[in-house]
Order: sequence, then structure tokens, then C-alpha cells
Amino acid sequence: MFNLFKKKKPQQEKAPQQMECPKCGGAMTLTSGLTYKFHCRGQELEASNVTAMKCANCGEMMFSWDEAQRIQKFAHESVDWEDKTE
Ligand SMILES: [Zn+2]
Repeated sequence: MFNLFKKKKPQQEKAPQQMECPKCGGAMTLTSGLTYKFHCRGQELEASNVTAMKCANCGEMMFSWDEAQRIQKFAHESVDWEDKTE
């Protein structure tokens, strides 16, 4: 008679610190303190202290949901601020 033991791997709910780049297949690493430049309504904006998964190979960035929301909010505030002044 055989005794079979199944090793259960503990389920980790934590967000991965590394993933494969969807663009080039390179290694993406969770990086903080990044500067993300983008355009919003014809304006060039710069979000600082951004945390994102960044590809070491091609520089592709992927944001978490929270971070994406934060950047979007920053963009809207930046653009609206321009409207309110003067
Ligand atoms: Zn890449």
C-alpha cells in the first residue's frame, strides 16, 4: 500500500514583484520613484514618484490599478488647475 502525500503550496495573494513584459518578453521589475511623462489635453505632464512594473529591456511600464488612478487624478487636476487660474 502506498501512502501518497500531496504537498500543498501556500497560496500567495501578494502582488508579484516581477513579471514578463507583454511587449518584448523581458523581465519587468516593480520599481518605485519613477518619473512618468505623458500628454493630457495637449499638455505635457510629468508625474513623479511613480511606482510601476518596468521592463529592463524596452522600458515598457505597467501600473497597478491604484497607481493608474492616482496618475489620472493628477492629470485631471493639472489640467483643471490651468483652467481655474486667471
Ligand atoms: Zn519589454
